[in-house]
Amino acid sequence: TGLVVAMDGPSGSGKSSASRGVARALGLRYLDTGAMYRAITWWMLQQGVDIADPAAVAARALDPELTMGTDPDAPSVAVDGVDASGPIRTAEVTAAVSAVSAVPEVRRRLVAQQREIIGDGGIVVEGRDIGTVVTPDAPVKIYLTASAEARAARRTAELTGTTVEAQKAAMARRDTLDSTRKTDPLSMASDAVELDTTPLNLDEVIAEVLRVIKE
Ligand code: C5P
Repeated sequence: TGLVVAMDGPSGSGKSSASRGVARALGLRYLDTGAMYRAITWWMLQQGVDIADPAAVAARALDPELTMGTDPDAPSVAVDGVDASGPIRTAEVTAAVSAVSAVPEVRRRLVAQQREIIGDGGIVVEGRDIGTVVTPDAPVKIYLTASAEARAARRTAELTGTTVEAQKAAMARRDTLDSTRKTDPLSMASDAVELDTTPLNLDEVIAEVLRVIKE
């Protein structure tokens, strides 16, 4: 069976770019589990589901079909056959995703699909609960962190029409929701290697992860 690399950490820690870079360097597939939570959230909003009502979200959790593209050069997500790679990145989805991802039925469904995609391995998987819940047996687990300032600055550079201060507040809110929810909150696996990316550029983060993998 192939290698599984679990990459966890909060938003803005540099997970996505690093995970794709590592997958590319090693010829592995890449799975963005955050994109799955975002896609189901986007679908719920489109359907008019009241995302503040966990029972309403749970009742629809199995309805949308998600198809994940795992090429690190062109990751994609489709909902019921429609590409949603763009719409899942809007501020509206970002603000709603923590509430949807806190619903146990949503997590159960997505974790099952994530395990199916991981299959025999050969993949870098990024998220919040990969090393703790999705693949606790993964031979390599990395937990990326960065200062709140660095994380907000990175996210601001990716977006338009926002400020570092606004991003810092939005991220703090999402982190609190993600790390205090009852089901599988964001936490570091006890056997994960913690990597603070604050002083590092992308190439340095990738090099560091590749070094951990070779150990
Ligand atoms: O990584 P990204 O910021 O795209 O994740 C969006 C949201 O999806 C997170 O804020 C979190 O609520 C949820 N998520 C999760 N478990 C994962 C990945 C993402 O709960 N494995």
